Amino acid sequence: MTEASMRNFIGGDWHEAKTADSLPMIDPSTGEAYGEIADSGERDIDRAVAAARQAFDEGAWGRLTATERGRLLTRFADAVAANADEIAGIEARDTGKPMRVARADAAALARYFEFYGGAADKFHGETIPYLDGHHVAVINEPHGVTGHILPWNYPAQMFGRTLAPALAAGNATVLKPAEDASASALRLAALAAEVGFPAGAINVVTGRGATAGAALASHPGVDFVSFTGSPEVGQIIQKLCADHYITCTLELGGKSPQIVFADADLNRAVPVIVNAIVQNSGQTCSAGSRLLVERSIHDALVERLADAFARVRVGTPAMDADCGPIITAKQQARVQSFIDRARSDGIPVLAQGRLDPALPAGGFFVAPTLFGAVPRDHAIAREEVFGPVLSILPFDDEADAVALANATDYALVAAVWTRDGGRQMRLAKRVRAGQLFVNCYGAGAGIELPFGGSGKSGHGREKGFAALHDFSKTKTIVIDHR
Ligand code: NAP
Ligand code: MG
Repeated sequence: MTEASMRNFIGGDWHEAKTADSLPMIDPSTGEAYGEIADSGERDIDRAVAAARQAFDEGAWGRLTATERGRLLTRFADAVAANADEIAGIEARDTGKPMRVARADAAALARYFEFYGGAADKFHGETIPYLDGHHVAVINEPHGVTGHILPWNYPAQMFGRTLAPALAAGNATVLKPAEDASASALRLAALAAEVGFPAGAINVVTGRGATAGAALASHPGVDFVSFTGSPEVGQIIQKLCADHYITCTLELGGKSPQIVFADADLNRAVPVIVNAIVQNSGQTCSAGSRLLVERSIHDALVERLADAFARVRVGTPAMDADCGPIITAKQQARVQSFIDRARSDGIPVLAQGRLDPALPAGGFFVAPTLFGAVPRDHAIAREEVFGPVLSILPFDDEADAVALANATDYALVAAVWTRDGGRQMRLAKRVRAGQLFVNCYGAGAGIELPFGGSGKSGHGREKGFAALHDFSKTKTIVIDHR
């Protein structure tokens, strides 16, 4: 158990949940419980929002300059780097990811705070020429108290993705991590206090979505919500926000296509395509889960891919395999049911990854699976599996490729593999996506790069300077100095 378990971090201190209820912390590699977190309720959220409000309106946090906020963020980045092994260990046990991946997540977390630490005092307003004798300034103001509801797939990274820009912009924050992976957020809250974040700037309340999460999104003291998770819950969040006239960013996942033309460099493409779907066991909003292949190279590409897929190793964090287990028994059953249904519908399995025979029996493991010749209207061609399942769909020509790429309700990320410069540009413009890669693929890549979707993938932009805009509002000041 961690020092923080069963308690929330509110107003700079640890507090027992008023509910006195708990939720188990489960190790997905074994299926066994190893600790407990608080199953918090409305009154705990109330307390956290009040602490954030106090920090913003009257506390030390609200009085800091942008430069001082930036320095604190940078100091936190350094503290994360100094404690990276510990943070990675916490994350690997809580989510099952290989240690190598958990370390990369800790590095990304530090990078978020480094980037936004540097950006805090470089996020400027503007002046606008207006009537004679008038001066107009447009300034950026923080929303006030921001609510952050996180999923379980990249808990530590996401702590950085959502909190660093919100804090850089000057907001006071309340975070509700996913009940299935709250350990790193609790540790990071303590670390933030250690580096000197004033009380109430960062509050972490654990609990279930339908209780603690809903209480946060609907709280009248919350001025903006940042949500990452499923489209279904995203709709609930947006409605809760609408009830008190606030906006939100929704990052809801995708069914992202990689489009491979006959002239593509397959030596470069194959390892990238495999990694884009097995990374984090496919539990990545921006996973490359659809492979659209020009028919003339279909067989050649499939042969190489099947070979690479069959070599993917699945293991526990300590085995440091290519991917780990699925987060929960429920998600494992969901992913497995997609695979079983596709098989029983006669879709050919071209290859499967290897489950190590020494895996613990209770772990939530699923074999990475490559499906060929997937019918365009099948569930695994259209729905987000959120597991290591890649669907191959052949196309005939450029127009067909664009139509197929745009044929889901999602629009988050896409990749185009071709050496034809004109085609690169045409597809970059025609394929619906918030990020589009040419001859590469970075699932959610680049802290500097604006990221977000449209349609069922959600709305709003995270990362880069775009996130600073979403976490603030403009105020236009007009001065008549005649
Ligand atoms: P989810 O239910 O949408 O969970 C995301 C977050 O929302 C969690 O913190 C969750 O709390 C919270 N939540 C749930 N119901 C809520 C409500 N009524 N009000 C406020 N907050 C609420 O996602 P999931 O059940 O974990 O996963 C289901 C599917 O979502 C996956 O198969 C995948 O397709 C998608 N997903 C997408 C992403 C992404 O990165 N875009 C990440 C995770 C999952 P608790 O979990 O703590 O109860
Ligand atoms: Mg867990």
